[in-house]
Amino acid sequence: MAGSRRKAVRRGRPRRGRRHATSGPRFVAAAIGIVAFGGLLLWLRPRQLPPPSLSPPRMVTLAERAAAKAEAEAKASAGAVTAAPAAAARQGEAPAPRRAAPRVAVVIDDLGDSLHTARRVLALEPPVTVAVIPFRENSAAVAAAAVSNGREVILHLPLEPERDGAMAGGGGFLRTSMEPRHLEGQLERDLRAVPYIVGVNGHMGSRFTSDPRAMRTLLTALRARGLFFLDSKTSPESVAGELADGLGVPFAERNVFLDHDPSPDAVARALAVAARVARRTGQAIAIGHPHPSTLAALATWLPAATRDGFEIVPVSALVR
Ligand SMILES: [Zn+2]
Repeated sequence: MAGSRRKAVRRGRPRRGRRHATSGPRFVAAAIGIVAFGGLLLWLRPRQLPPPSLSPPRMVTLAERAAAKAEAEAKASAGAVTAAPAAAARQGEAPAPRRAAPRVAVVIDDLGDSLHTARRVLALEPPVTVAVIPFRENSAAVAAAAVSNGREVILHLPLEPERDGAMAGGGGFLRTSMEPRHLEGQLERDLRAVPYIVGVNGHMGSRFTSDPRAMRTLLTALRARGLFFLDSKTSPESVAGELADGLGVPFAERNVFLDHDPSPDAVARALAVAARVARRTGQAIAIGHPHPSTLAALATWLPAATRDGFEIVPVSALVR
């Protein structure tokens, strides 16, 4: 900048020289001096006065600082809340794993037949976890649609029930009579039939889940694949939780069935039970089926529960 001003001064000399060519050398020297002085003043002035355009950005900067300070204070207070259990644990006290929001996971079982039905389930907001039965007409397509909509998918694994007749017409069942190698082979085929899964829950399974030998084989195979087991608790005799804890398999357990009785009143009562369990214990897992009454109730209940302070989570978030 200074260089260009000096150039301007130098350029001024010949012009003035031409205009006053007939005047004496003193006049020329004085003219050069005046021009040089004026140039110096011009050069200095913008540096001495603060440019007015700087004022608005300075005000923005102050506002930004205030906002950043408020944000930092908010973060610090949030950090104090989450740090409390860790501090308690360090002092040898029982940790207090309390969360601000009770968490609820909803799983819809028995999907894989109809894409139309699956789309109704995938439209629920906040999202629910979808449990897909293998070897149905649209098993893989439903799983793909769920994942592309950001939904969690688990395998709804056919497990032997007490009533043999209930298995008629359904493929892929694991049975208590199977030798371990046979059982693992069938499990492998079931797992391959439903892509994108993060875990497994049982379809039926009252006999299978109460059989320690069969469950040990299944849970060990799931552990090797990094998959969790959600016990639907179709039998009060289920040994799944005890075995999963012993084997170190990620595990969760159904708290409420939403539609044993699919009448709207009964589904509403079941959802209220899920909410009570979540308030009392911090979390609840509800399992339902794609009955029109269940989906209609969930379409209303899920957003309402969110407004009431519940956090609707994928079931994997509640695995222990
Ligand atoms: Zn089922």
